[in-house]
Amino acid sequence: MINFSTGPSRVHDKLSRYFSDALRLDITGLNHRSTHFKEIVRSIKQTLSEKLGCPPTYTPIFLSSSTEFWYVLSRDYAAFPSYHAYNGAFGERWYQYRHTMCPNDTFKLDFGHSEAPQTPAYLPPEAFLAFVHNETSNGTTLPSGFMEEVRQKYPESIIAVDASSCMGGEKLAWEAADIWFSSVQKCFGLPAGMGIMLVNERSMARLQQMTLPRYHNSLLNLYEMALQDQTTFTPNVLNIYFLMRVLNDSPSIEVLDLQTRQRADRWYQFLEELGLNPLCRTASLRSRTALAIQESPKTIRKIKQTALESGLQLGEGYGVHKTDTFRIANFPAHSEVEIQILKDFLKETRKLLSL
Ligand SMILES: *Cc1c(COP(=O)(O)O)cnc(C)c1O
Repeated sequence: MINFSTGPSRVHDKLSRYFSDALRLDITGLNHRSTHFKEIVRSIKQTLSEKLGCPPTYTPIFLSSSTEFWYVLSRDYAAFPSYHAYNGAFGERWYQYRHTMCPNDTFKLDFGHSEAPQTPAYLPPEAFLAFVHNETSNGTTLPSGFMEEVRQKYPESIIAVDASSCMGGEKLAWEAADIWFSSVQKCFGLPAGMGIMLVNERSMARLQQMTLPRYHNSLLNLYEMALQDQTTFTPNVLNIYFLMRVLNDSPSIEVLDLQTRQRADRWYQFLEELGLNPLCRTASLRSRTALAIQESPKTIRKIKQTALESGLQLGEGYGVHKTDTFRIANFPAHSEVEIQILKDFLKETRKLLSL
């Protein structure tokens, strides 16, 4: 089965090698207070900077998933008004998460899936801003240069970005936000069960101004331990090890970004020729890593079913578009050959269904 689902998805080619190395090196039993563990974290910090271009002033924090980061951020920034710009299901969930915890100062700035977001007209300087860089549910992305614009307009705010389905596959404007997070089962091509969040000093300094209770897994405690290449709890050491290996073996983000863009351009061109419509009607706002295609629910059902029979796992529709879309992941781990197989399949099926 070739997995084109948007996560968990196709895993990295060398994963079985990483697994056997992990067993041989007893990574599964590696103590997270050991020197070896700290070396692994240090190596990740270095490659995040060398390969992904993330400035060394950002510190990685490991938890279980992106949704856990929604929770932790909602909880620990509870004293600040939170503004959520979103156009799809993941952004909405993050907003709802925070709204349930802090109903009085959680605000939404929602927009349509074929519309560009507006830079908010006014925000208090202490605002916490939440963005979804790549809305995996409907196959859209923020316009290029948007994050930089927001940063420039709101230099005082803390800006947090859910980059779950693009970190590791696309170049990010790191300095335009204070907090970035992702899950490893998407562009990193790893098994699910871990999230990585990168935080800068000012985002943590904002928390330090508050007299927050310092419970064990508070963000500040996680951060202070992370500065020493440590965690507050027993983390997913195996996935942390895999992440180190993937980053070590990864080309630079410039190379990956170009590959992602070129493949996405070819995908959209192909879909257009086939008469399959992306859900997002505005070409410049279409995601390059998660493509959402809209058709009648009946056609979608047939395509997905026939795909499975041909050994191709497509991404299900999500949220309100569960039945009238399917999604195709365009992640670095997918090979050209696999992409061609899926294209051939779609061409063939298109004929059969004579859509
Ligand atoms: C996949 C995804 C999530 C959820 O990730 P989990 O690992 O399931 O918590 C959140 N946001 C976006 C944009 C995603 O694509």
